[in-house]
Amino acid sequence: MAEEKRTIAYICPACRQSVILERSVFQLAAAPNELPCPCGKSALRVEMMGDRVHLTVPCVSCGGEHRVTCASHDFLHRRGLAFSCGKSGLDCCYVGEEDTVFGAVRRLEEAVDKLHREAGERGAFLDEIVMHEVLSEIRDIAKRGGISCSCGGKEWKLQVNYSSVDLVCAACGGDLRIPAATESDIEDICCKHTLRIHGRRA
Ligand SMILES: [Zn+2]
Ligand SMILES: [Zn+2]
Ligand SMILES: [Zn+2]
Repeated sequence: MAEEKRTIAYICPACRQSVILERSVFQLAAAPNELPCPCGKSALRVEMMGDRVHLTVPCVSCGGEHRVTCASHDFLHRRGLAFSCGKSGLDCCYVGEEDTVFGAVRRLEEAVDKLHREAGERGAFLDEIVMHEVLSEIRDIAKRGGISCSCGGKEWKLQVNYSSVDLVCAACGGDLRIPAATESDIEDICCKHTLRIHGRRA
């Protein structure tokens, strides 16, 4: 008998590529699994605890992470499961049989593209207030000279996205993504005195 496989998919918030991975039921049950995007900037985590499965899903729609849970039996055997983002209403993760998951993630790609295109046309952010607050915190930190890169560079550029802000080092091109989607993103940056860009060279 062939070993039963499960397909798991999400769209990476950092590079916006679909991440589609296959794991055997045995692999999923044996230990917590981290399913990373090839870009290295996001990973979906799966942990099976008794008859429940806990997933931590990076969400392309809101830029945050969602912790979701379902019954282990459904996770391992249902033809298709979808988890959705409470903020945008779009799906953020699919689990199931290969063809079902592939079909679903292709439709989600289209919906996400549309969402980002419309937002770009409006010149809008996911949450205007959160973005405004996060940008003003970054400016405050910058004024105090608190932004630097691990390469030693002190010059950087700001790139404002739909639900995040990137600080890009002018010297090495390394970057730091600061989420600007939710209230907790404001709290996170408020308690920081410095921001350190991850340099591309040591
Ligand atoms: Zn990625
Ligand atoms: Zn979300
Ligand atoms: Zn640098």
